[in-house]
Amino acid sequence: MGEMKMTRPPLEKEADVVVIGGGIVGCATAYFLAKRGARVVLIEKNSQLNFEQSSRNNGFVRQQGRHPREIPLMIECNRMWQGLEKELDADLEWIQGGSLRLAETQSELARLETMVRIGRGLGLDVQLLSGREIRSLVPDLGREFPGAMYTRSDGQAEPTKAAPAFARAAERLGAKVYTRSCAEQVIVSNGRVAGVATPATWGRVHGGPRGKRSSSGTRKPSIWRRRTKSRLGWHPAASRR
Ligand SMILES: Cc1cc2nc3c(=O)[nH]c(=O)nc-3n(C[C@H](O)[C@H](O)[C@H](O)COP(=O)(O)OP(=O)(O)OC[C@H]3O[C@@H](n4cnc5c(N)ncnc54)[C@H](O)[C@@H]3O)c2cc1C
Repeated sequence: MGEMKMTRPPLEKEADVVVIGGGIVGCATAYFLAKRGARVVLIEKNSQLNFEQSSRNNGFVRQQGRHPREIPLMIECNRMWQGLEKELDADLEWIQGGSLRLAETQSELARLETMVRIGRGLGLDVQLLSGREIRSLVPDLGREFPGAMYTRSDGQAEPTKAAPAFARAAERLGAKVYTRSCAEQVIVSNGRVAGVATPATWGRVHGGPRGKRSSSGTRKPSIWRRRTKSRLGWHPAASRR
């Protein structure tokens, strides 16, 4: 069998922001920055986006039962999720079907009561259900519970779809997304992030978010690259500037 030749488009030479990692955090960050007009490059070490934790969770977009400091963030997050399929022009299998946390014992129920009181104080539509209310909400539960915490507005989405949808929407706004591109080093110069090194690249980001302009007024390249061939097609550049 002949040797497989790996090709890919050359990495972008300029960026305002380099986002490292193509999970939900990186892809959403890339999208919202691109929406604000930033020139964004996202690099992901795996051969595809969303290959790690962001595709391996239960898909809950849950507001209830969180630390009080998280609840206002999750209320806002839930509000954003309600419009996300439209905003990203993607099917995310978003369902706002509520979430239910059952208490097995009276002491668990007491803990849920505290959570409900805190959540309601922060404006969340969380409520405590009695055993009878649980039965009417989920008739085929199969056993009795002393009570439960229930938030009608909680939702869920399909985790395998969320991050890629953000990435595609970011690309439509001009962001450049590269897989098989591992950040090996974040270069700091004079106390500021000055670049990102990958096996294929030696990148530099100049002068903060908008890049530094040269004396001629043109924007300097933010990412400079060097590349050499290796067994897999790429390996660290021997010398860097
Ligand atoms: C719809 C949805 C529902 C969720 N529901 C739940 C839930 O019910 N329960 C729960 O506990 N959590 C849930 N979460 C949260 C989730 O499980 C994790 O907290 C979240 O996915 C972490 O995202 P991340 O982008 O930080 O990490 P990751 O998904 O792990 O992404 C990090 C990425 O960075 C890449 N990377 C790492 N190092 C480098 C490098 N040097 N160079 C380049 N790339 C690199 C990795 O390959 C990876 O792709 C949910 C998330 C979503 C999207």
